[in-house]
Amino acid sequence: MPDVTSPRVLNNLFEAYGLQPRRQLGQNFLIDANIVRKIVSAAEIQRDDRVIEVGPGAGALTVSLAHAGAKLIVLEIDRGLVKLLKNLFEAWPQVVIKEQDVLQVDWITLAGNLGAEKGAVKLISNLPYNISGPFMYNLFRAGFPFSTALLMFQKEVARRLVAKPGDHDYGALSVLSQYYCRGNILFDVSKNVFWPRPRVDSAVLKLKPRRRDLSESEEQLFWEIVQGVFQQRRKTLPNGMARLFDLSRSRLVELLEEVPLSPTARPEELSVIQFAKLSRIIYNYFDKQ
Ligand code: SAM
Repeated sequence: MPDVTSPRVLNNLFEAYGLQPRRQLGQNFLIDANIVRKIVSAAEIQRDDRVIEVGPGAGALTVSLAHAGAKLIVLEIDRGLVKLLKNLFEAWPQVVIKEQDVLQVDWITLAGNLGAEKGAVKLISNLPYNISGPFMYNLFRAGFPFSTALLMFQKEVARRLVAKPGDHDYGALSVLSQYYCRGNILFDVSKNVFWPRPRVDSAVLKLKPRRRDLSESEEQLFWEIVQGVFQQRRKTLPNGMARLFDLSRSRLVELLEEVPLSPTARPEELSVIQFAKLSRIIYNYFDKQ
């Protein structure tokens, strides 16, 4: 197996396959074996762990994960890279390579098909920056069916996922992420360890699923409220919510008081727990009508 974290090896492989890094696919490849080791060691791979890797590129993380004993499904959108990977991993039956747009994946089915018990699959990715938002929303919509996710993001996206009420980057993605997961940023990664070099630094984030308190129907309302009010984050809650529900302002204020929340509160002040409580109260109100 060639050392795919070596810029010289990467260059040769790309030339041999007639490939160029594609900016529109967020292609920035890891060229630092120490960082690769650090990421894979943070994943705490045990022999026969089922792992899904998204966006393997030329296989920098994949090789290390397979060496650590993981059984892998890797999803890559770029047909040229898929061809390269299939050749590189020809003799590695524990690595299954699929040409796939991750934004089209049915996560529940895929995680289920990978065997192991429900939710025992690990997810790993050095994520294409341009799709990190929709990618994460899809994982949460599927109920985050993983035991752990180890994800590298542009630093600001990682911060947004763990932001707390009052932080300037606290938004719908933060609330949804912290409803479904416990997360912490493990370490930053300099832009200098990628080829080609991106404009910004990255961070590695570890996410673990959280026990969820809402029913499926309440969760639907939770999504509607969280996404709806943050679309108008400068508005107070009764004003932001008036657009979402056919309820008078005075009724909305009453329902907010049950949480309890002030009618002057704005979305960025609410904790995940308060959003969940509010969703349950609104759900119960409509259920009784
Ligand atoms: N994991 C490799 C590494 O660390 O060197 C490559 C990381 S690179 C930042 C992102 C990879 O995701 C690229 O290989 C790119 O082609 C792939 N990718 C981009 N959009 C994708 C999508 N929608 N579905 C699947 N893979 C995608």
